[in-house]
Amino acid sequence: MKITNHMPTAELQKLDAAHHMHPFTDNGSLAKKGVRIMKSAKGVWLNDTEGHKILDGMAGLWCVNIGYGRSELADVAAQQMNELAYYNTFFQTSHIPAIALAAKIAEVAPGDLNHVFFAGSGSEANDTNIRMVRRYWDIKGKPGKRIIIARHNGYHGSTMGGGSLGGMKPIHAHGGKIDGIVHIGEPNYWEQGGDMTPEDFGLMRARELEAKILELGADSIAAFIGEPIQGAGGVIVPPSTYWPEIQRIVEKYNILLIADEVITGFGRTGNWFASQTFDIKPHIITVAKGLSSGYAPIGGSIVCDEVAAVMGSDGDFNHGYTYSGHPVAAAVALKNIEIMQEEKIVEHVRDVAHPHLAKKWKELEQHPMVGDATLVGLMGSIALTPNKATRAKFKSESGKVGYMCRERCFANDLIMRHVGNRMIISPPLVITTAEIDELTKRAWQSIDECYKQVKAEGLWEEA
Ligand SMILES: *Cc1c(COP(=O)(O)O)cnc(C)c1O
Repeated sequence: MKITNHMPTAELQKLDAAHHMHPFTDNGSLAKKGVRIMKSAKGVWLNDTEGHKILDGMAGLWCVNIGYGRSELADVAAQQMNELAYYNTFFQTSHIPAIALAAKIAEVAPGDLNHVFFAGSGSEANDTNIRMVRRYWDIKGKPGKRIIIARHNGYHGSTMGGGSLGGMKPIHAHGGKIDGIVHIGEPNYWEQGGDMTPEDFGLMRARELEAKILELGADSIAAFIGEPIQGAGGVIVPPSTYWPEIQRIVEKYNILLIADEVITGFGRTGNWFASQTFDIKPHIITVAKGLSSGYAPIGGSIVCDEVAAVMGSDGDFNHGYTYSGHPVAAAVALKNIEIMQEEKIVEHVRDVAHPHLAKKWKELEQHPMVGDATLVGLMGSIALTPNKATRAKFKSESGKVGYMCRERCFANDLIMRHVGNRMIISPPLVITTAEIDELTKRAWQSIDECYKQVKAEGLWEEA
């Protein structure tokens, strides 16, 4: 079977149901419903096998930062595959794409984050981080510093290490969780802030880190990991007081700070990294997704001078992946970053797309079912609520209304995801102002259709 064969959708769906196990999916019910099949894409627009032209408000899975269909990336992949399709970076060898990409990442990364350990994905990079921070403290003569503190409802991938760093109970429930990782509260003001001001709530959540360090002893803590903005957790933007307080605490107690920028890196927040947006000074930044705009699977840990120097001071680090720095993926990622620089895509987010979308996004708050509409760079969310004043939840089971809204979006050829009853977007960074107008028009229409359905089904009830 050629992959270019265009069988009727129903036949493809049958084959998919028979042979393809989807991630994070109820495969039994999907098999009955029939999967949606994407065929091609250009810019921010996806085409499915049924002829729908869909506005991708999620950039795939938060990753297609430069948009779909850039043939330069295809060309560079073909060229690299012909020249050197594969070689490893173990055993004292390297190759040109890995070298050039590491140097390019060091150029765009903030501060003294000048070293890159490559992985095949964000999950793998976070697994690297677990082992690296523990090895770092071993070498420094503090082998007791092993525990990593993370947050409830954080997402750091779905390998055993990544899933354990993440604070999502449904993930821990399937296969368990490795030891030596503990979780503190998330800075989710909308859901958990109660009567506090956002500022006080942000401080309170950050100080849970200090309390946990004091409880377990600083001599047992290796690192703290957090996403500058929680992505999969629902685009949770922390109050302004949160990150400065976290920064103060990690410095005071001498623990490493890992910023998981798998989503927020490479322009998403209007800077190259959200660590710049929030003035965070991490020792390690996790990257993947936008690193290659999703055109090839690649991730990595960007490491500061001091940690890299320590890691290089005491023999082998017994860790690595067959595809660490894979030449084709590295060449594609390098070209992706070059295009971002040449076309000033980060500046486009900061100066054009964000200001325009911010205004339009805020207008959605005029809808009776929309509570807060938040946007940082091109990463946004809206809370659906039956009572904005009290930030009330719906009485129906969590996520029911969000799911209904997502289905309306699909019907209106807009991809907007839901996390619980929070709708989220993260469109390609190249989105134009006209496309932003279309996105917010379809979003309003979908929310409004959902609202009418909620009312008609008697779901407009507060918990
Ligand atoms: C997607 C994601 C990961 C995992 O990356 P994969 O490439 O799916 O393994 C890790 N951290 C964050 C913040 C993510 O959004």
